[in-house]
Order: sequence, then C-alpha cells, then structure tokens
Amino acid sequence: MSRAYNFSAGPAALPEPVLQQARDEMLEYGDAGASIVELSHRGDEFIDVARRAEADLRRLVGIPDDYAVLFLGGGATTQQALIALNFAAPGQPVDYVVTGHWGRIALKQVAPYVDLRIAASSETDGFRSIPPRAEWALSADAAYVHITANETIHGVEFRDVPDTGAVPLFADFSSSIASEPIDVRRYGLIYAGAQKNLGPVGIGVVIVDRALLERVGQPRAEIFDYRAHLAAESMLNTPPSWNWYLLGLTVRWMLDEGGVEEFARRSEAKARALYAAIDGSGGFYRNEVDAAVRSRMNVPFFLQEPALEEDFLAGARDAGLIGLRGHRVLGGIRASIYNAMPVAGVEALAAYMGDFQQRRG
Ligand code: PMP
Repeated sequence: MSRAYNFSAGPAALPEPVLQQARDEMLEYGDAGASIVELSHRGDEFIDVARRAEADLRRLVGIPDDYAVLFLGGGATTQQALIALNFAAPGQPVDYVVTGHWGRIALKQVAPYVDLRIAASSETDGFRSIPPRAEWALSADAAYVHITANETIHGVEFRDVPDTGAVPLFADFSSSIASEPIDVRRYGLIYAGAQKNLGPVGIGVVIVDRALLERVGQPRAEIFDYRAHLAAESMLNTPPSWNWYLLGLTVRWMLDEGGVEEFARRSEAKARALYAAIDGSGGFYRNEVDAAVRSRMNVPFFLQEPALEEDFLAGARDAGLIGLRGHRVLGGIRASIYNAMPVAGVEALAAYMGDFQQRRG
C-alpha cells in the first residue's frame, strides 16, 4: 500500500526520507546498542543529536549568534503563556494583533499576567484580512507586540514584517517557520510548535534576542524560565528526545533539499495552483480571504453546496488525499501544504477538485 498525500494541519506529513531513517535507526542508533529514545539525554549520542539540530536550524532559518534557540517540551500554546512571564512585568501592557483563532488563543494565555491590549483585530471581518499597520493602536510602554505570522485555521498570513519601532515584535510562526527566508533581526522573539514544518509534535522552538533575556519578567518557577533553560542548553529537565531527534532529521532534510529559498519557491507554486483551482471553479469552491494575505501554508475553502462536503472528503480519501476536513472552528475543507507536501500532491488535489466538480457540480 502506498502512502497518501496528507493535508493534515498538524500533526502533519513528515518527509518520507525522515520516516525511513527513523525506522532504520529505531532499534539501534548507530552502534549505540539502543535506540536514541532509550539513551540518556546526557550521553554523547543525544548531545550530538541536540547540538546538530540546533546548528542545522540556525543555518536553515538564518539565526544570528546573538539570538538564543531553545527546544522545549510544551508546544506553541505553552510558549504563548511563557512569553508574558519572561518578558512582561506584572501588569505591564502588551499589544496583541489578532488575525485568527490562534491569536485569540494567545490572548487567553497571557490575560492573567499582563495589561492585555488588543492593538488591532480582524474579528469583525471574520478573520479574512489583516488590519493595516497604520490602524494599529500600539502602546509606547508595551513589553512587546504579538502577531501570528500565519493563522493555521483562518488561512491568513502576514506578507510583510510590521514595524513596531522600539517595542520588540514577537511572532507565532508555528505554521510557517522555514517556509521562506525571514530576517530574524526584525523580531524580538519567534516561537513555533514543531508539528507542521519542523517535524514532530511534542516539542516547541523559541528563537529569542539574547538581550531580551535580561528582562526580569514576573515571579515564576525555574521550569518556566527561558534563561534557566538556555543555561541548561534546553536540558533543565528530561527533554523530549525522540521529538528533538525527529526535528533534527527534518531540518537536515530541508537543508539537503535546498533550504528556505527552495521551499519558498515550492510554496508559491503549490499555493498558486490551489488558489487557481478554487478561484477558477466559478464559485463551486470558495476561499474568502483577502487575496493579499492568503496563506501559502493553509488553504481553507468551502463548497458552494455544504451538503456535498462529506462526499468530497470520502472521494478524496479514495483518491489517496487525506487530512482535508476543515477545523471545527471554521468547518469546510482545509488543505495544509507544508514543506513536506510535494508539488505533485497539490496537483493531485487540484485534479481531484476539478473531477469532483465535473461529476457533482
Ligand atoms: N499557534 C498556531 C499558529 C498553531 O497553528 C497552533 C496549533 N495548530 C498553535 C499555536 C498551538 O500549538 P500547540 O498545539 O503546539 O500548543
């Protein structure tokens, strides 16, 4: 049986060579006498895996030396809470720009700790756009400005980096990290759950300007302290070693494939093909996001006739296309087309969409 094209939003498809290598090393990692997941995280083998993953991620994303990289148990939601504890004084203002579901979730994580301000929101517009920077109400004394670089459910993506002046920009890059070149220096902090472009669920990555780690933040347990994690090389406690290992394999695969420039090119091609299939359907399929900020990673769409959705999904499955059911918040269909999704997978989906419309339209 062959593997299907998997459009799941996360956990998401992993590159086949990564799965094959993980399978080959499952029983014994090198000549260690055991799998990497059975070995001490303090042993030479795992230390090497961890250091290589960091070095490769730095090269892939272009992370300067004056930025720290943390690998942490707890996904993106955990970081959403920890950023307030680590970088905002108790009750200090923080500015949030809300452009979808995950931005709204981020608000809930910090509300107990800060003076939460919504600098801009596209909620009244059904999260189909990004409010222009000129309309944001930013506070000069904010600890940071938070954005969601790509909204995984609503399919809305920032296509430029907003200027926030002297206040550092913090960005949730969970569903778009490593999909195109970015200038890390424009951000104070970037965080991502790994389970989309970086590989496995169960580990989160934080990329942070080291200067910001001098901030006092709020009273917190050591395990919630980024500085303590950095001092311990992300091994303050037992790290999610299997996930870290898989992340390392995935990052290495992306470098081997040509890095973020190559994935930006592929992402453009994939997104263009999919939006063309939707926009060219005469309304049979519909994506409602402002064309200027449509996501290159997550493409939500609706059928003109919602009653056909189940048939669409069942037929897709028969055609070897899985993971297309929309998130429960929005309904409809969603195709997540992260770096591990080949262009051929999107072409197969577009062909299926045309075929389904011809039969049922
Ligand atoms: N932010 C974004 C943009 C996401 O897509 C997700 C998960 N889909 C999250 C945050 C939450 O991530 P986690 O489940 O790793 O906490």
